[in-house]
Amino acid sequence: MTSAPTNDIEFRSVTKRYGAVTAVSDINLAVPKGAFVALLGPSGCGKTTCLRMIGGFEQPSEGEVLIAGNVANGVPAYRRPVNMVFQQYALFPHFDVTQNVAYGLKQLRPKLPAAEISRRVGEALEMVRLSGFAKRRIHEMSGGQQQRVALARALVNKPSVLLLDEPLAALDKKLRSAMQIELQTLQRDLGITFVLVTHDQEEALSMSDLVCVMSAGSIRQLATPQEVYDRPADLFVADFVGKTNRLDGVLEAGGAVRLRNGSALASSRSDLAPGAVTVALRPEAIRLSRRSDAAAFEGIVTHRIFLGSAAEYSVSIEGLGDLLVTAERHSQSENDLVAPGERVAISFDPGTAHIFPA
Ligand code: ATP
Repeated sequence: MTSAPTNDIEFRSVTKRYGAVTAVSDINLAVPKGAFVALLGPSGCGKTTCLRMIGGFEQPSEGEVLIAGNVANGVPAYRRPVNMVFQQYALFPHFDVTQNVAYGLKQLRPKLPAAEISRRVGEALEMVRLSGFAKRRIHEMSGGQQQRVALARALVNKPSVLLLDEPLAALDKKLRSAMQIELQTLQRDLGITFVLVTHDQEEALSMSDLVCVMSAGSIRQLATPQEVYDRPADLFVADFVGKTNRLDGVLEAGGAVRLRNGSALASSRSDLAPGAVTVALRPEAIRLSRRSDAAAFEGIVTHRIFLGSAAEYSVSIEGLGDLLVTAERHSQSENDLVAPGERVAISFDPGTAHIFPA
């Protein structure tokens, strides 16, 4: 007896070339059943190509794509237990909601009974909270409602994997946040595997169980959002996911990193050989104070961006350059809203600094 596969999607040494362009290069990836995974990376890094290979719209040039434990190479899109929500929704504008959602079911052979189609459409509309809109035409609906119709249409034939290609890109910021929560709730309720393509790191971090950070056709890190943010695998991930200060330094034989201004930092990396390194430091890991204290660097605030509950500062440090510092506001504190031109002390816990080979 074989046990049920725990991975819904697996890439084994997958490469995809379009002529001379290698879009995806030797990727290995495993997505557990029922997970919400985000493929995150800059434009052109190969996210959509990966999604299209899962969907069956593209075939790998090398390697294998497995779905629910079975090799899917060569299996056409319509034979896969997978459905896709496209960025532009690809709805029929002059059809009503029911006609759009039922479209795929009506193409099935042997034909489904009309009552079954109607029941399934009703269920799908309920899932996306559009039950009252069955007869509404697409061009009479808001962007958020159209997005939900596209979701209902993708869910109506009960796929085990749902692929989402930048599904919220067309929505304004507020609606996008609301839909992020809705999508996440829907995924939890349905328990099906979601693969989301996005270049928006905030979206990836806030919605998914796993973030797959990609660059130039390769996977840089596959981990939980917290892991990716707190322990980036390399400088690319540190830079791409969240903001990062980069400080040049030299890792010395004794294990300390000597920064350009002469100060030393204990290194947590025993695996690195001495030599040039880059220290990556999150802006919110840096403390800023009007009082100088012994452990701190001193600098001048050159710029301040007011963010409401926090403020973001550029601080020019002699011998180090400009550092970005994000400080939560504490309106009772004497450090609340430091002004450009002020002299400040900054400090950080060395444990929050990530050290990478330069
Ligand atoms: P975006 O965020 O801009 O959609 P992406 O990360 O999804 O980018 P892909 O669309 O997967 O990236 O493209 C990866 C690379 O493959 C790019 O260099 C792209 O130009 C190339 N590419 C994609 N599709 C084709 C195609 N049909 N023919 C030729 N090259 C292609």
